[in-house]
Amino acid sequence: MLPKFRKNPIHHYPDGNVVLCVGHEHFRVHASIFRASSSFFDGFFSGNGKETVSHSVRCEHGDPKTDTGETDRKVIATVQLPGKNSKEVEMLLSTLYLHTEMEITWENVEPILKLADEYGFPRILAKCDQLLRRDIGNKPLEVLILADRYRLPKAFNASSALVLHDYAKISRRPEYKQLSLETRVELQAVRLRYLDGIEELSQQSAWANVKFNHPSCPANHFQHFNNQRSTGSLATLPLKQDFTGCQCCQQPDCTKAKIKRLKVALGMSDEPVIVEDKKYYLYIELAEPIKKKSPFSA
Ligand SMILES: [Zn+2]
Ligand SMILES: [Zn+2]
Repeated sequence: MLPKFRKNPIHHYPDGNVVLCVGHEHFRVHASIFRASSSFFDGFFSGNGKETVSHSVRCEHGDPKTDTGETDRKVIATVQLPGKNSKEVEMLLSTLYLHTEMEITWENVEPILKLADEYGFPRILAKCDQLLRRDIGNKPLEVLILADRYRLPKAFNASSALVLHDYAKISRRPEYKQLSLETRVELQAVRLRYLDGIEELSQQSAWANVKFNHPSCPANHFQHFNNQRSTGSLATLPLKQDFTGCQCCQQPDCTKAKIKRLKVALGMSDEPVIVEDKKYYLYIELAEPIKKKSPFSA
């Protein structure tokens, strides 16, 4: 006798034409929805997955076309998702099917991200990215860990700015080690460059060759920089952009020249990342995620 399977109570649609077999649980879903939402399933149903998985692959519960549980002829494919947790697959489907649209929260975001990343569901990834960015001010490290693991560029750039902003404190937290080695190395490199830049700008000579309007402008900017440094306000990013004019010559372009000097020395980006109305100029950029191979290929 074939082993028994359970029909998922939420996502087993009588008019569905695809069976997802997860452990001893069956989900009966719609190929059209999966093709439109997932790069993996789009490739799978358009034949790109043929070399690795046949459309009529049987699960251990028997071929749904003949099994008493799935009698009709509508089922076009059975897809086994080996090693997956049925509760987590249910959560993924509940964010996909609009009538059950489940809210993504910090409690469920990681398993949903993991599956959405593995099977290429861009709309669900974007929803997760939205949640992460909403809470970035409270949980910058938690956001960076997930954005790093699942390659979410927007959340990654913004959270790296906040982590760098408070690097000395955040990098000592035990969870910090959950970041990839690559990201930790980059954060440290950006931070070191910033600290080296501060040392460099603390020398009068670093300001000598900047084009300013008045002979006393360089000395004035140098003095102002060191005042900021000694009061600790310099270590506070975001950088304050004050274009009302240089205190010495009263010219805005002189202040711009100063900001440019700071940016070059400190390794700051020209395009800021904006988090909660603040502009951050120090962050790590993550490129768009690389398209993954099918999880079924060797
Ligand atoms: Zn099965
Ligand atoms: Zn000036």
